[in-house]
Amino acid sequence: MMFDVKGNLKQVLAKLPQGVRLVAISKYHPNEYIEAAYEEGQRIFGESHEQELRQKVETLPKDIEWHFIGHLQTNKVKYIAPYITMIEAVDSLKLLREIDKQAAKNERVIDVLLELHIAEEETKYGLTPDACRQLLSEGQWRELTHVRICGLMMMASYVEDEQQIRNEFRIAKNLFDELKDRYFADAPWFKERSWGMSHDYPIAVEEGSTMVRVGTSIFGPRVY
Ligand SMILES: *Cc1c(COP(=O)(O)O)cnc(C)c1O
Repeated sequence: MMFDVKGNLKQVLAKLPQGVRLVAISKYHPNEYIEAAYEEGQRIFGESHEQELRQKVETLPKDIEWHFIGHLQTNKVKYIAPYITMIEAVDSLKLLREIDKQAAKNERVIDVLLELHIAEEETKYGLTPDACRQLLSEGQWRELTHVRICGLMMMASYVEDEQQIRNEFRIAKNLFDELKDRYFADAPWFKERSWGMSHDYPIAVEEGSTMVRVGTSIFGPRVY
């Protein structure tokens, strides 16, 4: 039976203040779920697997803005470069360079976010705050004219402790402000703070998120 996608979407949107955008995370969910959200006016969707995304892009409406939210291997960039609206989880100069190269081939500029790793969970992905500072201070990214760094993305720890989640969002917000001052004061596009998922987006919004990535609360549990 189909989840009440439209009702759920409305409930999530009702909790978002003006200026906070919703990326509906549709990974592992069928086209009919995405179409239901689309009929309600949702246009930004997020996916984390290149092949799944490719199939959806081919069959779903062309005015959907797709965000790539998962770990992206450099050899997959060429497949999404022609159409992707935003690549949210960039965590190395190598990946940034490849996005720049493929964007240039497609004669476009691709918007990206730098992925932070602040949560306590061990993961190979994401930049620690210091690694993020270092990447920007080294300056090679300035030569990449076909990528536009639009802000930061992060996932808080998956814990019950609300204070811990809140603190992690605050660390991310403080780093955003620091980087904005230091590197992007003259870059109005550096404005996105992508944090907040189904279990923590109301907290994320209180802590300065501009973009929440919500899947389960809209589409129900994923069947892997
Ligand atoms: C899957 C995913 C989400 C959505 O998670 P939900 O708990 O289903 O809302 C958000 N961000 C990233 C990076 C994800 O991989």
